[in-house]
Amino acid sequence: MTATMRGVYFLEPGKLEMREVPIPEPAAGEVVIKVESATTCGTDLKAFRRGHKLFKPPMPFGHEYAGYISAIGQGVTKFKVGDAVMGINSAPCNECYYCKRGKQQLCTELEGRFNFGTYAEYARIPSYITAQNLHHKPAHLPFTEASFIEPLSCAVLCASYTGVQLGDTVAIIGVGAQGLMQIQLMKAMGASRVIAIGRAKGRLERAKQVGADDIFSSLDGDPLDYVRSQTEGRGADVVIEAAGTPETWSQAMMMTRKGGTIIQFSGLPGGTQVSFDATHLHYDEITMKGVFHTTPRMVELAAEVLSSGKVTVKPLLDGEVPLSKVEDSLIRMHRSEVIKVAVVPSMPEM
Ligand SMILES: [Zn+2]
Ligand SMILES: [Zn+2]
Repeated sequence: MTATMRGVYFLEPGKLEMREVPIPEPAAGEVVIKVESATTCGTDLKAFRRGHKLFKPPMPFGHEYAGYISAIGQGVTKFKVGDAVMGINSAPCNECYYCKRGKQQLCTELEGRFNFGTYAEYARIPSYITAQNLHHKPAHLPFTEASFIEPLSCAVLCASYTGVQLGDTVAIIGVGAQGLMQIQLMKAMGASRVIAIGRAKGRLERAKQVGADDIFSSLDGDPLDYVRSQTEGRGADVVIEAAGTPETWSQAMMMTRKGGTIIQFSGLPGGTQVSFDATHLHYDEITMKGVFHTTPRMVELAAEVLSSGKVTVKPLLDGEVPLSKVEDSLIRMHRSEVIKVAVVPSMPEM
């Protein structure tokens, strides 16, 4: 008789289902982990609400994870059964045009190399991920924080694009999970002053808690005027847009000083048009960059900053729930009641 486990499946937008399925077995190069924490993510919420091009339902759901290795496939030498691990859910091919040019985040094979199914008692980790993007979890780091490694690795790639210098003023628009990690990375990389811009006061308080020097609510006025008033009219040296609206994209552009850099971190729906004053880009020598996804090196760095405590994700975590509460947690995220929740499959159902 095959042993079974419980796992949450995504059937169609708005519809999840708990299934009893066989515990996966690892093929060569793969491992199976006993999931100790699978954090909820904005991408899961997007897929659940309106579908997502990377999600092809019906399919196992959940992609962030940390846990114990419960079985290893032939040829795996880096890990043994019982090891505590954390990882992300994709890995590049290292052979395509972009990978060879050091842009693994743009890998043309990426779409077929995503792995899902961490809202489950056990999850299979494909060989390419096991080899490149699975790491040992340090003993002092709780599983519920270790499973932040995926979103944090995206934040680290973003931070690496900013070119932030000692003494810089950085404005970060958006105080969701990404904004709150960016604040900490910018401080760790030498920014003197980080201004966090958001709406809800509660979120802005968390920004303060993780190290923002200054907070501003767009409910209290125009963030653009505010940032200029704090920088002798110049604008910020670096601006990171992590709120995800066309308005904040243009706001980020105009908030940047001459010669400054903007990172447009948040993705907008296909076909979205954004407008800004083109003279600012040209005459003021603005650098505007998009950033997508992550690379194995950034995952390594994310493991390092999590382990060393340079970034603390605890203030971003709004509790732990059992497997049956995935849908409920996504709805609470949508209502902005929580930032992220750790789904802990071993937690007894209430
Ligand atoms: Zn995620
Ligand atoms: Zn590639």
